[in-house]
Amino acid sequence: MKKNILVNDGISKQGKNKLISYDFNVFDKKIAQEDLVEFINKNKIQAILVRSATKVNKNIIDSCPSLKIIGRGGVGMDNIDVEHAKSKDIDVINTPDASSISVAELVFSHIFSISRFTHQSNRSMPLEGDVSFKNLKKKYSNGFELKNKTIGIIGFGRIGQEVAKIAIGIGMKVLFFDKNINSKSIKIDFFDKKQISFELKVSEFKTVISSSDILTIHVPKLNSSLISKKEFKIMKKNVCIINTSRGGIVNEKDLLESLNTNRIKFAGLDVFENEPTPDIKILMNDNISLTPHIGASTIEAQNRIGLELAEKLNIILNG
Ligand code: NAD
Repeated sequence: MKKNILVNDGISKQGKNKLISYDFNVFDKKIAQEDLVEFINKNKIQAILVRSATKVNKNIIDSCPSLKIIGRGGVGMDNIDVEHAKSKDIDVINTPDASSISVAELVFSHIFSISRFTHQSNRSMPLEGDVSFKNLKKKYSNGFELKNKTIGIIGFGRIGQEVAKIAIGIGMKVLFFDKNINSKSIKIDFFDKKQISFELKVSEFKTVISSSDILTIHVPKLNSSLISKKEFKIMKKNVCIINTSRGGIVNEKDLLESLNTNRIKFAGLDVFENEPTPDIKILMNDNISLTPHIGASTIEAQNRIGLELAEKLNIILNG
């Protein structure tokens, strides 16, 4: 008999086709959180695949005896009660590697925007580009180059290392701090199959914070802010800080204060303390480049995520 899979937060077409090719019966639909238990039980769902939106909590785990696998497309497991699932012999799987390049490229999308004010000019050109062209040209004429600037990477895991590769590629100096990594060999692959390695050594947290022109944060969800008033105080005055990790790791209140008092210059945010309704003061701040938590949302990453989940489900459920 075909095994039933509920895909509750979407999956790439390639991933869905792969699941079907493994003879799974795929329910690719959004079931409201409050209706999940009934749906899973009625359809004897054996695996539920989610991204970050659906919460697979203790109640669902306890109330759905058919569940054998919880799959998370992506990295963070904050929306899944992992320990409780494991205690009930439910496998919890994720796809930690699939989106690292996409997130790293988004980091540079923010950095490149900020360095030439395109996050601002894209807002003002449609409104006044025809009447104030010369004024806008003047306003946005003090951009800066990235070559030879220092990027500080806090959290040097999968995404932090991908960021380092791009940074080295465009001639930046890389500093990193990671509480578990002392040194790392960064291998950069080129289009012609050449490969170059760079040996990087950890720096003190304080050194990275105070010496970087660009700071980017790539740590897992923490219980408190990693970057707040104390850290903003020792940053370079023109620093630009990027957070694509988790909302709140950069304290938003302290970020706003630092921007508004010109303590720091720019920020780029993909994640927010209060998702999905971020603080309007953050959204309206001209010096913040903004994206709505799309770090992993590229066609390539979503395909890798879908295919990886399908492969793992096939191994666990079909043997
Ligand atoms: P990872 O586990 O590979 O790396 C995290 C690194 O942070 C580890 O090396 C760890 O030692 C280090 N670390 C942990 N706590 C630290 C601390 N207090 N100070 C310094 N270093 C610390 O994780 P990853 O795959 O690189 O993901 C990083 C972050 O990106 C996660 O928060 C993840 O949720 C987030 N993420 C966001 C998106 C998005 O859409 N914006 C997509 C994927 C991942």
